[in-house]
Formats: sequence, C-alpha cells, structure tokens
Amino acid sequence: MPTQTATQIAKLGGQEITYTLTRSRRRSIGLQISQHGLRISAPLHTPLSHIDSVLQQKAGWITKKLAQWQDKKSLALDWSLDATYPLLGEPWHMALQPAGELAMIRSFDEELPQLHAIGLTSRQIQTFVMGWYQQQAITCFKQRIELYAPELAIPIPPFRLSQAKTRWGSCNSRGVISLNWRLIQLPLHLVDYVVAHELAHLIEMNHSKTFWNLVEDIYPNYQVARNKLKGYG
Ligand SMILES: [Zn+2]
Repeated sequence: MPTQTATQIAKLGGQEITYTLTRSRRRSIGLQISQHGLRISAPLHTPLSHIDSVLQQKAGWITKKLAQWQDKKSLALDWSLDATYPLLGEPWHMALQPAGELAMIRSFDEELPQLHAIGLTSRQIQTFVMGWYQQQAITCFKQRIELYAPELAIPIPPFRLSQAKTRWGSCNSRGVISLNWRLIQLPLHLVDYVVAHELAHLIEMNHSKTFWNLVEDIYPNYQVARNKLKGYG
C-alpha cells in the first residue's frame, strides 16, 4: 500500500495549526517539528479523531517547539526527555532502543513513557546528548574539511571542537582550525561556509579582498550564508 500524505488543520490552544499527515504501514503515531512545521506519521487506519486527541495531549509541547523553530535564532538546548535536538537543521529526539540503550532518532515516537520510566536526570541527558553532538560534529567537520581543503590545494589541517560563545570558527598561526560544536545544529551549507572561511584563512590570515576571493572560489555566494549565520547570533 502506498504512503498517503495530506494537509490537515488542528486547533491547539486556540491556535490553528496546519500540519502534514503521512499515513503508512507503521504501528504508532510519530510527530516531527522542524522549519517545515509539524509533520505527523500515522498508521493507515488511525481515525483523525484519535490523531487529534494525541495532538491535544501534546499541544503545549507542539506550540512551544513550533515557536522555537520560527525563531530559529535560538540554539539554546533544553535538557529534557521531550526536547528537540537539531542536527544539521533537522529535529532529532531521544529514544530507547529495543535492547534498552539510549539512542537519538529522527522522529518523535510514542516511546516517551518508557524513556520517562528510566528516570534520567537533566545532567545525564546532557551528557548523553552532548556526547552524541560531539561525535556527529567530529565526523561531519572532518569530512567537510577533507572536501574543501583540496579545492584550495592545501594539506588537510588538524581541527578541534570549540565551545566559544561568540565565534563559529577560528584558526591559529600553527594552522589548527577550531570549529564551534554548535555548528552541527545548523544546516550543512552553513557548516560548509564556516569550513571554507577558516580554510581560506590558512592561506590569507586576514579579511582582505584576496581572502574573500579565495572563499568565493570554493564557496560561491558566500554572502548568503554569512548573513544567515549572523541571524543565529
Ligand atoms: Zn575570518
């Protein structure tokens, strides 16, 4: 049976919310909130009234998360079991795997009761999620550096993750690049801009015309990414 997708409207806390409903062969209702809005995945024959009652139960969470995605500047994380963790611009959530281990998954499924039952503290959630972010960041940043460095005909430089409050990236005179771990929350084209920018600094340690020409050679239309990045503060 093919997957069916339709647009639906729900009234949540006095607000009309449009969402995409995708029905497929699955057993539970899943919710996803991203810059594309609310997306619901449901089994083929679940009545709309049941889907609506699930939405009503989670109305507070849904309206809060939608507001956060509209205000994309907020990269602040909330260390709770039902929090959304952006990765490369897409929402991820914590879940329990069948064997009982914690995992990060793309959609928000009805697994939270089990997750709540294991009683994690916000400190434990933070440790787990931050470990995941760091692993994802290291893998992704390494791959992007390996992609862009050859385009500038420079050797692949070492890099480290930074926790800087105000900078996305930097590089030092020994040729080591630092990339802010938070970049991994943003869409890949923004990660690529920061990588291209820092790599270009390995040739030109300033923001001269020559420098921006180098950036443009490997990352055309960099101004768009640069402005978007400013929006994240
Ligand atoms: Zn710079």
